[in-house]
Amino acid sequence: MTTIRRCFTAALVAAIATAGAACANQTASAPTAADAKQFLDTVNDTMKKLDVESNQAGWVQQNFITDDTEAIQARVNQRVIDAIARFAKESVKFDKVDVSPAERRQLNLLKLSLVMVTPSDPKEGEELTAIAARLESTYGKGKWCPDPAKPDACLNIDDITKVMAESRDAARLRQVWEGWHTISPPMRKDYARFVELSNKGARELGFADSGAMWRAKYDMPPEAFTKELDRLWDQVRPLYLKLHAYVRLKLHEKYGDMVPANGPLPAHLLGNIWAQDWSNIYPLIAPKNADPGYSLTDILKQRKMPALEMVRTGERFYSSLGFAPLPKTFWERSLFVRPKDRDVVCHASAWDVDMDSDIRIKMCIDQTAEDFTTIHHELGHNYYQRAYMNLPVLFRDSANDGFHEATGDTIALSVTPEYLVKIGLLGAAPDASRDIGLLMKRALEKVAFLPFGLLIDQWRWKVFNGEVTPAGYNKAWWDLRLKYQGIAPPSSRGEDLFDPGAKYHVPDNTPYTRYFLADILQFQFHRALSKAAGCTTALHRCSIYQSKDAGAKLNAMLSMGASKPWQDALEAMTGTTQMDASAIIDYFAPLDKWLDEQLKGAKTGWQ
Ligand SMILES: [Zn+2]
Repeated sequence: MTTIRRCFTAALVAAIATAGAACANQTASAPTAADAKQFLDTVNDTMKKLDVESNQAGWVQQNFITDDTEAIQARVNQRVIDAIARFAKESVKFDKVDVSPAERRQLNLLKLSLVMVTPSDPKEGEELTAIAARLESTYGKGKWCPDPAKPDACLNIDDITKVMAESRDAARLRQVWEGWHTISPPMRKDYARFVELSNKGARELGFADSGAMWRAKYDMPPEAFTKELDRLWDQVRPLYLKLHAYVRLKLHEKYGDMVPANGPLPAHLLGNIWAQDWSNIYPLIAPKNADPGYSLTDILKQRKMPALEMVRTGERFYSSLGFAPLPKTFWERSLFVRPKDRDVVCHASAWDVDMDSDIRIKMCIDQTAEDFTTIHHELGHNYYQRAYMNLPVLFRDSANDGFHEATGDTIALSVTPEYLVKIGLLGAAPDASRDIGLLMKRALEKVAFLPFGLLIDQWRWKVFNGEVTPAGYNKAWWDLRLKYQGIAPPSSRGEDLFDPGAKYHVPDNTPYTRYFLADILQFQFHRALSKAAGCTTALHRCSIYQSKDAGAKLNAMLSMGASKPWQDALEAMTGTTQMDASAIIDYFAPLDKWLDEQLKGAKTGWQ
């Protein structure tokens, strides 16, 4: 790893005379196209080596959680971030050099590969890194302690999640909801400084602010991308309004006037601390006579299906589409079951450790329908990683960040009752009259999520560009939650609080629009692949299992990685260059009709 801390090569050093910190003392002539090529070779080579190191350290840390493995991983990560930041800043000097389109794209991707850019002033850089780490650990250690005298009774996010999912006691839910939101006020001051410093870093790379830098990743002008999101939201909003109104009707029956008949939904009664996924309150919402008559969880448990066999079933799905079997090392090196002898990070994830063929998943699989679906989701990441493995490192990513998450979810949409019959897990598929139950449950997850997926970055972009100042953080947050989700807090929320910080992705600084896009895209992918598979039934009953034609279309998109604008990758699979939310509307069409019948013209919305 000798290339990290010094200037690239003798020839290049001469060429990048005007460079920043790393090569500041060199002098030479203006950079040429040949220099740019050599620079990119060095970047790709260095990033590959560093990524492998980082993956290995990360894998070991997550599989053996100790102070030492955490320290090793933090060190490697810092080296990766430093290297990318240095390369990104140095790449600016090739801005005016005439290079090939593929090289120009790699130079652009390099500039866009960081979510946070530290200012070049070393003191400010250090301050920003420290604040970012502190925000993350404040969240990670977040606990609500109802009685400070009893530390054992404190609730962490897992405990909070369980209460929100299971309790139907409104007073208890409100107490726990307010309790969790006590973890974030200490982040408020840090967050304001974080915004200042990360904006400074983004400006050094030529962006107006950090939010503009995030929006620049979508192969269109940032303002056009914002309009594109509005357009997609307008397509799905009518369906969301109906679901919102029906859920309000049922919750009003259950909780009385605490749920206003025509107003917003109380944030603490939706089965999830952020009200982003309402599937936990399905029993309160369940349509009558719509029980599908089977439970995949029960089937898996009755058959005592081992975790390994569940993964093999997932692999067989992808094989049926024409993808090559997973390598031997996948089966030797993946983690499928929670080990008894040590702490591991059980949150499911997919890896390509050596940036070559060493793909793996890490999961603690239970015999549940949820984990069965998650296996298909994680394998989607692995097949994507393998499909773009031969591209330059800077192109080894999804077409845009929504595509990676959408891929596995697309396959999971094909886990239909008919598919379960085909693979022998279910005797007969339930009658179509039972579909409303399955669709309602799925809508409480996928449709309810849409406005939430959108608003997190709507808030952050306004914070980064200064439209929302620290004096109005909480008000702006709740204004957006009302506007998009139609949700209100159970008690008034002043500026002494910092409610955005109670959502992981804010203190962790992970862009969130990708989840909104993935939610829209997976249905668009599913519709296109179902068409390729020749499916003529209702979209929610289509499975692309065993369709080589669908597999070929999927692979055409996956193997492009990030080498072309996402519009081209989308076209390779779906035949169109535009994201389109009409597929999610098609998918839920029977539920939409059913909701119309239930609501009988009742008022939707909350104004
Ligand atoms: Zn994922």
